Amino acid sequence: MRKKIVAGNWKMNKSYEEALSLVSEIDNMVKDEVNGDVAVIVAPPFPYLQSVGKLVQGNDKMHLAAQNVSEYESGAYTGDVSASMLKSVGVEYVIIGHSERRLYHHEDAQTLYKKMKLSIAQGLKPIFCCGEPLEERDADRHFEYVGQQLKDSVSYLSNQEFDQIVVAYEPIWAIGTGKTASSQQAQEMHAYIREQLSRMFDAEAAYNCTILYGGSCNPGNAQELFAQEDIDGGLIGGASLKSRDFTDIIKSF
Ligand code: PEP
Repeated sequence: MRKKIVAGNWKMNKSYEEALSLVSEIDNMVKDEVNGDVAVIVAPPFPYLQSVGKLVQGNDKMHLAAQNVSEYESGAYTGDVSASMLKSVGVEYVIIGHSERRLYHHEDAQTLYKKMKLSIAQGLKPIFCCGEPLEERDADRHFEYVGQQLKDSVSYLSNQEFDQIVVAYEPIWAIGTGKTASSQQAQEMHAYIREQLSRMFDAEAAYNCTILYGGSCNPGNAQELFAQEDIDGGLIGGASLKSRDFTDIIKSF
C-alpha cells in the first residue's frame, strides 16, 4: 500500500504567532478527528520550522517540511539553507520544483535534480512538483510537458533515491486560481505520471510512489479527487492556512 499524504504549503504567509496557533489547531484536530492512515505534512516558512516542529513532535501523524532547499551542500551561498541544516532541526520532507520557484527564481531541471539528490543524501524526502501551464493544456501538450519535467529531473535519480520521493502534480492554471482540475483530468495525468515513472524505474517502485494532486484543492472537492485510483492525497496551498478546511481535506479519504 502506498502512503497517503496531505501536505500544507503555507508559502510566505502568517506571522510567527499566527503560525504557532495554526499548527496547534491542526495538531489538535488531527488528534481528535483523524483516524485513518494518513501522513499530515506542514510546510511553514523557514524561520518557523523549529518551533512548528516542536509543537507537532508528539503526534506521529504530523510531519514537518521545508518549502525549499539549496542545491549546494555548504559554503558561501548567502541566503541559502542546506539540506543538512533542515535535517538538523527536524525537517523530514522538502518541497522541490514548485512552479512559483521555477518561475520567480528560475530554477531549472538540473538544479531541481541536485536539490533532490542532496536532500535524499541527508535523509530528507523530496516532494517533487510538476505541472503544465495553461497554454500547454490548451495546445493538448500537457502530457508531453509533464513527461519532460520528470525526464529532466527525476529520471537521473537512482532506484534507491527514487524510493524516497513523493511526486506532486500541480497544473499551474489551477494553483491559487480557484480553478481545480476535474477528478478525471487529474486522474489521467496521475496515471500517466505513474506510467512514466514505471519506465524510468520499475513498475513496483512506481506503484508504490505517492502522487499528490495540488491546485485549488478544498474541502468541497478533495473527496472526489482522493477517490481516484492514482491520487494519493494533496498538496494544499490556500486551504492549508485554515485549520478547519485543512483538517476537512485530511478527512476526505
Ligand atoms: C500550491 O501552491 O502548491 C497549491 C496547491 O496552492 P493552492 O491550493 O492555493 O492552489
